[in-house]
Amino acid sequence: MSTIFALSSGTLPSAIAIFRVSGPQSLPVLRQLSRRKVWTPKMMEYTRLYDSQHKIIDEAMAVYFPGPKTFTGEDTAEFFLHGSQAVATKFATCLSEFENVREARRGEFTRRAFHNGKMSLSAVRGLDRLIRSRTEKERRAAFGQMRGGVRAIEIRKKLKEILAKLFVIIDFGEHVELELKEAQRDVSEILHEIQRMIRAWDGAERAHRGLNIVLYGRPNSGKSSILNQLAHDDVAIVSPIPGTTRDSLVTEVQINGVRCRLTDTAGIRHHSSDIIEQEGIRRAKARLEAADIIVVVVDPESENQDFKSILSDVTEMKNAESKVIIVKNKTDLGLPYPDTPRGVQVVSTFATSSHGCDELRKSLEDIVEDLCPEANFLLDAQLLRRCSNELTCSVLCQDAAIMCSHIETALDQIGELTEGGIVTENVLDDIFSRFCIGK
Ligand code: GDP
Ligand code: ZN
Repeated sequence: MSTIFALSSGTLPSAIAIFRVSGPQSLPVLRQLSRRKVWTPKMMEYTRLYDSQHKIIDEAMAVYFPGPKTFTGEDTAEFFLHGSQAVATKFATCLSEFENVREARRGEFTRRAFHNGKMSLSAVRGLDRLIRSRTEKERRAAFGQMRGGVRAIEIRKKLKEILAKLFVIIDFGEHVELELKEAQRDVSEILHEIQRMIRAWDGAERAHRGLNIVLYGRPNSGKSSILNQLAHDDVAIVSPIPGTTRDSLVTEVQINGVRCRLTDTAGIRHHSSDIIEQEGIRRAKARLEAADIIVVVVDPESENQDFKSILSDVTEMKNAESKVIIVKNKTDLGLPYPDTPRGVQVVSTFATSSHGCDELRKSLEDIVEDLCPEANFLLDAQLLRRCSNELTCSVLCQDAAIMCSHIETALDQIGELTEGGIVTENVLDDIFSRFCIGK
């Protein structure tokens, strides 16, 4: 097993450059570089570091952690040097000169931690999520995933208990029907939790990619004004980035810690020439399809017909999961609005004065919370779904033996979540390639 090292502290120059070394050569390397035999475990000490020519490399702090109680499970040493490019380059060169010591690949420290049973796959993925997190919501989701493996173990224990009870029912059951009902109730409880976790996982994925909010309505209905109002509350983090097409501008805001891309899209039936209309339809359709939330903006100056066609565009072109809010804008004009369909949320605004915009924002917050619900634990939804299917079958069946077989299959799925199951090296390569060097 080779010993690996990496600069773990990020871009130089910085105040301190932290080098991490992991593997059997950690202590010999530390001893040789410091010209010092005795290193008390876990005690950070001041030392000078020398190259093979006995010339000084730097003055530094260093610490030695004996395995297996370390992050990687191996012997580890850490060096805190001055954070200059020249020092770091010199030090890396000196480390490479040792036999069996080489620079670490991306995520290799974490990979060793995983292989040495220090981290579950869920925890590794959680760490990956944490490193990539940009918002508060994503950060919390990452910790949820790091803890997810622990919850999977608890669920597995509960299912095993139910299974044990069922075996007793099969062998010696007296009030079989009653006892079966009780077991089904217990499974249902677990099933509910798993379904909650599936929603949370999907929500976390959505939060990670960010939500698309499309403002849709005829030209002049007030979309840009509303967009400005929504962006205004958030001015510090608003970043206008050019949209994919000339006629749209994407504004990014955070709603409940979720990054949301707001797009202003004019209704599609208002262009004069056929060719432009077709292109307009194509673009609008693509945007509506990709929208998580569609804010339909209507104003009382539009014809009834306009309003109807805008709404039917939305119903025709939106994807099944996207949510719709209707905004009745320009309430200040005191004109009547066409009827809105029942069951759709409606908010009234006077966008040039910010009137009603708080209410709109609140409605958006509620929808965002609904689309990206949080959970204390996150587990891979793909495996959870299979597990949930099995448990659903087990709750529905009337035979204890069949129920057992479904629960056993569910247990296998959960086993993959806790132990990593049959994780191929390819899957690991994929995960760890996203990590930084030094992680
Ligand atoms: P868009 O084409 O849908 O983006 O609409 P704009 O936001 O550009 O607004 C079109 C015009 O309507 C502008 O002159 C706005 O000042 C005006 N406007 C927007 N909202 C309101 C409102 O609530 N009341 C009134 N009276 N005018 C508004
Ligand atoms: Zn506009």
